[in-house]
Amino acid sequence: MKKPYSECRYPWDNVQVLADGTVRPCCWFGKDVGNLKESTFEEVWNGSEMQDLRQSILNNEIHSKCSGKPCPFDTGDKVDQ
Ligand code: SF4
Repeated sequence: MKKPYSECRYPWDNVQVLADGTVRPCCWFGKDVGNLKESTFEEVWNGSEMQDLRQSILNNEIHSKCSGKPCPFDTGDKVDQ
């Protein structure tokens, strides 16, 4: 059973950095939030993409890039292509 969307804390507690420098808040999020070859970690972590995602979760408004079925939180099971 999925947890409520508003309980997701990945954008506060977790980060994924890929070998090419790409940063994502989790493996399910459908968009890169920055790249460490172009920005510092602090710039990405505190940047507008991460702030928008955090605000969406705090508002319990499902972010368009929270990708649905594989995610452990209830994102309405929509998959953004
Ligand atoms: S995709 Fe899922 S785990 Fe990732 S930030 Fe969105 S709700 Fe949280």
